[in-house]
Amino acid sequence: MTARGNLFIVSAPSGAGKSSLISALLKDKPADMQVSVSHTTRAPRPGEVDGQHYHFVNVEEFKALIEQNAFFEWAEVFGNYYGTSRHVIEHTLTQGIDVFLDIDWQGAQQVKAVMSDAVGVFILPPSRDELERRLTGRGQDSQDVIASRMAQAVSEMSHYKEYDFIIVNDDFDTALADLRAIIRSQRLTGASQIHAQNDMLNDLLAG
Ligand code: GDP
Ligand code: ADP
Ligand code: 5GP
Repeated sequence: MTARGNLFIVSAPSGAGKSSLISALLKDKPADMQVSVSHTTRAPRPGEVDGQHYHFVNVEEFKALIEQNAFFEWAEVFGNYYGTSRHVIEHTLTQGIDVFLDIDWQGAQQVKAVMSDAVGVFILPPSRDELERRLTGRGQDSQDVIASRMAQAVSEMSHYKEYDFIIVNDDFDTALADLRAIIRSQRLTGASQIHAQNDMLNDLLAG
């Protein structure tokens, strides 16, 4: 039986802290976890590196990739296109590596429809005021962009019930510990252990 990593979908209203949580999780470059780098048509923020934070492409390039069926899922979010590479996800999971998708609720629905064992995690901010403070404090989006993201936050958050787990990102370290607990428990499910402990199980049960 081949190794198979777990697929984690992490969604949240913009500014709730999902990018910070995922990068803290992967800070020490664990060999068994990777974040999927999406393609996007939005402009890079200051400090964002092509190929590391996103693959930055123009609308024509993005549409050509749609035509080529290159996306596992894609969606239009805040007026820009975002999509997840099909090949990278498949290739990484078959190496037994867990993959994290930082994607919106529309993408999450598409992934769940084709991979029902993907684990959905929704990150909520502790309050609306705090969400606005974080969006402003991040200091990377214009006032117009922040206002539009705040306006969309309620409709995004209304999807929290579609996810398997919910983390309230109030104290950052607590939220990170919660995320680690979810990953650990997912690796202990029978379905995951059948893959991870295949040889040991065969030995134990050999007649
Ligand atoms: P941030 O989440 O506020 O840092 O803003 P981003 O510009 O990084 O992301 C904008 C939105 O697009 C978020 O809701 C992301 O979850 C979503 N998003 C990012 N990448 C993808 C993707 O590959 N597919 C989909 N469907 N959504 C994505
Ligand atoms: P997202 O990826 O969900 O849009 P970010 O990870 O960019 O959100 O976080 C938005 C801002 O909030 C960043 O400036 C980040 O440092 C800050 N932040 C994230 N989590 C917390 C927390 N628990 N307490 C205070 N600030 C936080
Ligand atoms: P930002 O522009 O702030 O980087 O991201 C805005 C939103 O787009 C975030 O909620 C993020 O999760 C979402 N997003 C980023 N990449 C993808 C993707 O590949 N697919 C989908 N569906 N959403 C994405």
